[in-house]
Amino acid sequence: MKEPDIVIIGAGIAGLATGAQLASEGLCVWIIEQSANVGGYAGGFERNGYHFDIGAHHIGGFKSGDVIDRLLCKLKVREKIEVIYSDPIQGIYGAEKINIPFSLNKLQEVLIDNFPKYTINIKKIMDDLKSFSTALVQNDQHRIASFFRMWSGKTFAEYVLSIIPNKKVLGILSALGPGYGGISANGSAFTLASLLASYNEGAYYVKGGTYKLSKLLMEEIEKRGGRLLNNTKVEQILTEGSQVVGVKVKKINAEFETIKTKTVVSAISIKQTYNMLNPNDVNSRFGQRLKQLDIGPSALRLYVTLSSNYHPEVSDISYFPSWDAENWDNDLCYRSNLHQGKALPITLTCFPTKVDSTLAPDNGHMMLMTILTREGFYRDDRTEINRLLEIAEFITPGMNSYITDIELATPNTFKKYTLNDEGSVFGWERTPIQSLRTNALKASIGVNRLFITGQWGPNFGVYGGFLEAETVSEKIVNEFEGVK
Ligand SMILES: Cc1cc2nc3c(=O)[nH]c(=O)nc-3n(C[C@H](O)[C@H](O)[C@H](O)COP(=O)(O)OP(=O)(O)OC[C@H]3O[C@@H](n4cnc5c(N)ncnc54)[C@H](O)[C@@H]3O)c2cc1C
Repeated sequence: MKEPDIVIIGAGIAGLATGAQLASEGLCVWIIEQSANVGGYAGGFERNGYHFDIGAHHIGGFKSGDVIDRLLCKLKVREKIEVIYSDPIQGIYGAEKINIPFSLNKLQEVLIDNFPKYTINIKKIMDDLKSFSTALVQNDQHRIASFFRMWSGKTFAEYVLSIIPNKKVLGILSALGPGYGGISANGSAFTLASLLASYNEGAYYVKGGTYKLSKLLMEEIEKRGGRLLNNTKVEQILTEGSQVVGVKVKKINAEFETIKTKTVVSAISIKQTYNMLNPNDVNSRFGQRLKQLDIGPSALRLYVTLSSNYHPEVSDISYFPSWDAENWDNDLCYRSNLHQGKALPITLTCFPTKVDSTLAPDNGHMMLMTILTREGFYRDDRTEINRLLEIAEFITPGMNSYITDIELATPNTFKKYTLNDEGSVFGWERTPIQSLRTNALKASIGVNRLFITGQWGPNFGVYGGFLEAETVSEKIVNEFEGVK
């Protein structure tokens, strides 16, 4: 069999988007995935006819000309993915509620309606975000770098409060941070701004579930001569004189096998990638930089089925204990000893069936509740399910009596499923210093024809995976053209 031009480690959304980009350029791509399924955190699972998203459900980038739309058009399969425009999130701040749209234009309107005396200042911030968003949509590295210089040393709170000295405005602008990036207002201004900008025209649900997008990308790679090797774990990246020559893999219950290739894209944890290499081949600065980096939070997620008699009022609710986003850090990650009684952590509650009835049989509903946490912060699964249900009842009173089934994912579940370090849901911790260090990481690995992509770089989330895929594929294609 022909040796693949490219081996991609990991069939998460970043590996798949990179594979699809490269396959569309005529390169032979093999994707190696340790689990049975494709998608990683952008995958799904089915229980009694209910289709759950494992992780990602709110996705930017589908607007015409934006990064996901662009790849699907290039593959000539845009019409195969139907998307549903997301309503605003209902933000609950202590006892107050406000609807927070994803789209930057609509968010601007809400802010001006509620805080008219800051109209000029609001426009200034929104103009920054819209202009950054244009740079992201165009994947214009030069302009993205200029925003990086502007924001990288600052926290998001420092940036916003220097223009609008109002805690409520900061609370609204920071609302996506915890649930969509594990970032509080004290996190990196660049990273939180990139999250807001990635939802420039709004957020979308993929009709039928996010896994449909992952599955489609894999099918398109296979159509172009590529292969998926699932249930197969990469154990080692083989090199000769700092040049990639292949990977050593292990299939469940089988012998080690070597796959020869001259180019490897690692779409998994960078720490694990580093451990797969011969340390003599890797730039010593890379190892030092890795040691300085902290891993971001994992999560507890409840997957709940509800009877058809339940009618959710809204599709998405984000709960914050107060407006004061600079003081969210203690409530960003659930700790069982801290979050008792009325002390609740920041919580995301989502009813995808409110907008997509195809996800459940017989007009039933489902609820996903997500709370960030870390290994060791929570108790055994049964105790936590009860506590999470108390929290759910507080946020959506009356819902619990309609529950028909419950499943819980813990940091350990996420870690087992994707092998991400500590079950991290968004990669690295996203503080200003970490944002600077993460940005410097990729360039310093020092192994020829080894490329890194995915959520352990400066970008994360589904949008970030598609952005990284474009950048990395362009580099690889240029190198291949240079060799011809
Ligand atoms: C609960 C939750 C909610 C989220 N919500 C959103 C959201 O609404 N919107 C959004 O944009 N993002 C969201 N995210 C984040 C988003 O899902 C991730 O950032 C993104 O999917 C990461 O993609 P990735 O390809 O970089 O990594 P992963 O999804 O982690 O994929 C890595 C893949 O590599 C495989 N792998 C690992 N090691 C090996 C090995 N040695 N050999 C072979 N295969 C290996 C894993 O099995 C996995 O399939 C959410 C995440 C979670 C967990």
